[in-house]
Amino acid sequence: SKEDMKGFFFRNAFVILTIVAVIIGIILGFGLRPYKMSYREVKYFSFPGELLMRMLQMLVLPLLVSSLITGMAALDGRASGRMGLRAVVYYTTTTVIAVFIGIVMVLIIQPGKGGKDEYVKTQKIEQVKAADAFLDLIRNMFPPNIVQACTQQFKTTYGKRVVHIKVTVNDSIFNLTNGSHEITKEELIPVLGTVNGINALGLVMFSMCFGLIIGSMKEQGQPLKDFFDCLNEAIMRLVAIIMWYAPVGIMFLIAGKIVEMDDITQMGSQLAMYTVTVMTGLAIHAIVVLPTLYFLVTRKNPLVFIGGLLQALITALGTSSSSATLPITFKCLEENNGVDKRVTRFVLPVGATINMDGTALYEALAALFIAQVNNMDMNFGQILTISITATAASIGAAGIPQAGLVTMVIVLTSVGLPTDDISLIIAVDWFLDRLRTTTNVLGDSIGAGIVEHLSRHELQIKDAEMGNSVVEE
Ligand code: ASP
Repeated sequence: SKEDMKGFFFRNAFVILTIVAVIIGIILGFGLRPYKMSYREVKYFSFPGELLMRMLQMLVLPLLVSSLITGMAALDGRASGRMGLRAVVYYTTTTVIAVFIGIVMVLIIQPGKGGKDEYVKTQKIEQVKAADAFLDLIRNMFPPNIVQACTQQFKTTYGKRVVHIKVTVNDSIFNLTNGSHEITKEELIPVLGTVNGINALGLVMFSMCFGLIIGSMKEQGQPLKDFFDCLNEAIMRLVAIIMWYAPVGIMFLIAGKIVEMDDITQMGSQLAMYTVTVMTGLAIHAIVVLPTLYFLVTRKNPLVFIGGLLQALITALGTSSSSATLPITFKCLEENNGVDKRVTRFVLPVGATINMDGTALYEALAALFIAQVNNMDMNFGQILTISITATAASIGAAGIPQAGLVTMVIVLTSVGLPTDDISLIIAVDWFLDRLRTTTNVLGDSIGAGIVEHLSRHELQIKDAEMGNSVVEE
């Protein structure tokens, strides 16, 4: 009936609006492409999208800190220890599966077969030793200055302009972007830039310990608990407001990207095969592995769960940043899927920071692709090294656009592959980045669902202790 329709619309208003926004964004993007906008015009045009990014990023720091502190303070050491263990087992398992899928896909499809295409060497990326990178990862967990940890700079390609360059791949000329002038090798160097972010890993560590301590302080800790509870609640209300703006922002983010993207019909065959390989791998992980895992553990319908997540997934696709998506992921999980707040507050910030299945899959796959184009056969030991470093690189990658491309240097150097060859895949990275970010967000969310299910007894006991009525689903 009409009433039903109305009810359906209001309940799903955000998702419907977001999907409509994506469709309009795609149409608008392709419609405007023939006008060959200049770089500046594209920037002006996608300004509403840039604003969404900024608003979401603005909330990440207070949200991450307040949710972790309150999440930890709401549990006792035992409960949080068990929950943490489950989360870590889930993260490790899914990341290992993801890396495995990536390796199998690239070995079967062999997108880099046939030796290296002719291409212009675009940039020299500084050599990083895997051991140093690993130590850096641990260093980051212990920020000497938490104020500084809130303003860390990351190397990334985000926000920088990939200018016009002609690359010869096999016989076809591949135009990297529709920028305004042709450039020489040197001009591509600023493609790797820095972006302001937060040292999420360090803040996660600090907030978790801080929250645990506050929780253990009982009445004495109450004022701080109340403070962070209130902060968290206030931030979530801000998120609720921004959600109304999100469809507009996503529309312009997508349209803007389509306007400035390369002409895919001119892509070289190796790069095209590589793109297809990554897409297939990510699809297997996101569409088959994760939902199956969810079903096996919880015996609940994964499609319903994923349906509740749609807005977060689309936001990930639009922003290519799992940390910018975090506020929306929270909303979707807590409000649409009814996941216990004690679980989301604990598991989501940690997941968004260290659990990146899509990135791990992609890094292992890309490294082997580069080995293939260089005609370098990788033995079992080297493939194992790639798996380990790809996992570490995915943990170390910040949840910001194209961070995975930068941490891939670690993977490549660990087995002596040329880091310069990252420039081979840079042209399609913006696109693959969106897909792996979506996979990352899905992995974090399914993780929250699984951990909640496995921790239901602890949560019930806690509820009983607090005198709350136990609500069974
Ligand atoms: N953009 C990804 C994310 O935010 C990280 C990556 O570059 O792989 O999850």
